[in-house]
Amino acid sequence: MITGIKENLQKIKETLPENVTLVAVSKTKPNSDIQEAYDAGQRVFGENKIQEMVGKYDALPKDIEWHMIGHLQRNKVKYMAHFVSLIHGVDSFKTLVEINKQAKKHDRIIHCLLQARIAKEDTKFGLPFAEIESILASEELKELENVKITGLMGMATFTDDQAQLQEEFSSLANFFNVHQKKHTDLTTLSMGMSGDYSLAIENGSNMVRIGSSIFGVRNYIA
Ligand SMILES: *Cc1c(COP(=O)(O)O)cnc(C)c1O
Repeated sequence: MITGIKENLQKIKETLPENVTLVAVSKTKPNSDIQEAYDAGQRVFGENKIQEMVGKYDALPKDIEWHMIGHLQRNKVKYMAHFVSLIHGVDSFKTLVEINKQAKKHDRIIHCLLQARIAKEDTKFGLPFAEIESILASEELKELENVKITGLMGMATFTDDQAQLQEEFSSLANFFNVHQKKHTDLTTLSMGMSGDYSLAIENGSNMVRIGSSIFGVRNYIA
């Protein structure tokens, strides 16, 4: 079967500045597709369901960095705590507490991004900026020795309106820049998907999560 995964990856990588990390979003896609991307040199993959990611971790090469990009169910964090490399969608302090607890069992420090709410749609998850500020400033955070907040993540509204996307991305980038000065651990700004990653990068993103432009359209909504 000719999938073109390798070609798609090459095309995208040519357009990415050097400082931008590509997360290949492989949710719903079979292991054979991931292996094809792996053989083309890709090592960072994103999934949005914990159980699906665990199955793929077990089956695929162990030098893959697995990113959890979906909404988190706290009771499932334990299944990925031994291997997950970055959790993008953290949107509550309670979830950080659970990640910390599970990370500790494996003597790991799990890197997390706080998800900011930037979309106008009310279907998107994420924290208002004020809540991110209070988490970053909290004394309780310092007690969570097995989590490290290394950046922020945002999902823009699903729209073609470039002005609106621009506004959403730049609002998060500005917020990130301000807080990066106070919290030196904040190095990652995860924003941009297949449809909007160029604009996200123009606005300062240094991590893009790209699925359908690499693997083709998904057959079902994930
Ligand atoms: C599915 C998904 C993506 C990738 O979307 P594409 O449009 O296929 O590139 C990126 N980020 C998150 C959080 C996702 O759930």
